[in-house]
Amino acid sequence: MIDIGSLTLEELTEQFKTELGLPAFRAKQVYKWLADGASDFSEMTNISKDLRNNLSNIYYISVATIEKKLVSVYDKTVKYLLSFNDGEMVESVVMNYHHGYTICLSSQVGCKMGCTFCATGQGGFTRNLTPSEMLAQIHSAQKDLGIRISNIVLMGMGEPLDNYDNVLRFLRLVSNENNFNIGMRHISLSTCGLVDRIYDLEKENLQLTLSVSLHAPNDVIRSRTMPVNKRYPIDTLLNACRSYAAATNRRISFEYAMISGVNDSDECAKELASRLKGMLCHVNLIPVNPVDNTGYRKSARDRQQAFIRILGKHGITATVRRTLGADINASCGQLRGRHLKK
Ligand code: SAH
Ligand code: SF4
Repeated sequence: MIDIGSLTLEELTEQFKTELGLPAFRAKQVYKWLADGASDFSEMTNISKDLRNNLSNIYYISVATIEKKLVSVYDKTVKYLLSFNDGEMVESVVMNYHHGYTICLSSQVGCKMGCTFCATGQGGFTRNLTPSEMLAQIHSAQKDLGIRISNIVLMGMGEPLDNYDNVLRFLRLVSNENNFNIGMRHISLSTCGLVDRIYDLEKENLQLTLSVSLHAPNDVIRSRTMPVNKRYPIDTLLNACRSYAAATNRRISFEYAMISGVNDSDECAKELASRLKGMLCHVNLIPVNPVDNTGYRKSARDRQQAFIRILGKHGITATVRRTLGADINASCGQLRGRHLKK
C-alpha cells in the first residue's frame, strides 16, 4: 500500500497517469480532499464509487486519532495523545499566542537520544513518523478545535534530524501552496545537535528557525545530561551553528532548560556567554519541567534573572520562555509515558 499523504501533487499526478491512466484533474481533486483533511476515500464525494474503491486498494490515508485531550485551565493550551493507523502514539500540543495558533509536533515515536531530563528520552525509541503522520497531527487538531494553525514547531516527541528525509519531505509538503501553505518563516525545528545533519540542513537553505537544545555551557555538564554530546561536543556543535547562521542569515535560537544546581550558576552563565560571543543568536531560558524519576528541579526565579543579566552584559539576548499549559504537563512525552505505564 502506498502512503498517499506523503506524496506531492506532482507525484500523485504522475502515478495517476502512468499506473491508472487518470487525467491530471483527478489527482488534483483527490489531493484537495487530502489537503482538507479527509481521513477516508469514502469522503471524496466528487469521485465515483468505483474509483474510490480502486484507490483504497492501492493507497492508504494516515490518520491521527485523538485518544486523550487535556485543556489547560490557565491558558487554553491543548494537549493531545494521538494514535496512528498501527496504534503507535505520540503527543501534540496546540498553543494560542497573540499571533495565532501554534502546534508543537512530534517527529518520532520515542527518541534514541536519551537526554536525562526528558520524558520521551526515558521511554526509548519505537519508530520514525512518516511525512503524512506529521501532517495528520495538524489535521486532527484543526478539525477538533475548528481553527487554522498558522505556526509549527517541531519540538514534540523525537529528534527531527534523526528522521531527516521524512522531516524534510514534511517541511516541503506543509509549506506547499497545494497543501497547508504554511511558510517556512512560520516553522521552527528543534534539535539536540546532530552536527552532520545541521550541515545538511544548511545546504537546503530554508527560511525556518533552527532551535538548538544546548542546556549546558560546557562538555562536562552537557555530556552528563545529553549523551549526544559525547558524539558531537559543544565546540563542534557551535561551529556548525555559526556556519548555519552565516549561510542562512537566520538567527539561531538556543534552548536552555534551567535545572537547579546543575547548570544554573553564575559561572555557567559566564561560560555560556563567552562560548556564544559574536553569534547571531537568542537564548531561550526554560525552567525545567520536572519529570517523574529524574530528581531534577526548576531553578529559582533569581537564577533566571541572573542568567539574563550576565548574558545581556555580554551582548546576548535571552528571555525566559513563557510556560504554557503548566497544569497539563505540556512538555511532550509525559502524557504518553504515563499512559503506557498504566
Ligand atoms: N529532540 C529535539 C526536539 C524535541 S524536544 C530536541 O531535543 O531539541 C523539545 C525541547 O524540549 C528541547 O529543547 C528539549 O531539550 C526540551 N525538553 C525536554 N524535556 C524537557 C523538560 N523536562 N523540561 C524542559 N524542557 C525539556
Ligand atoms: Fe530526544 Fe529531544 Fe528528548 Fe533529547 S530532549 S531525548 S533529543 S526528544
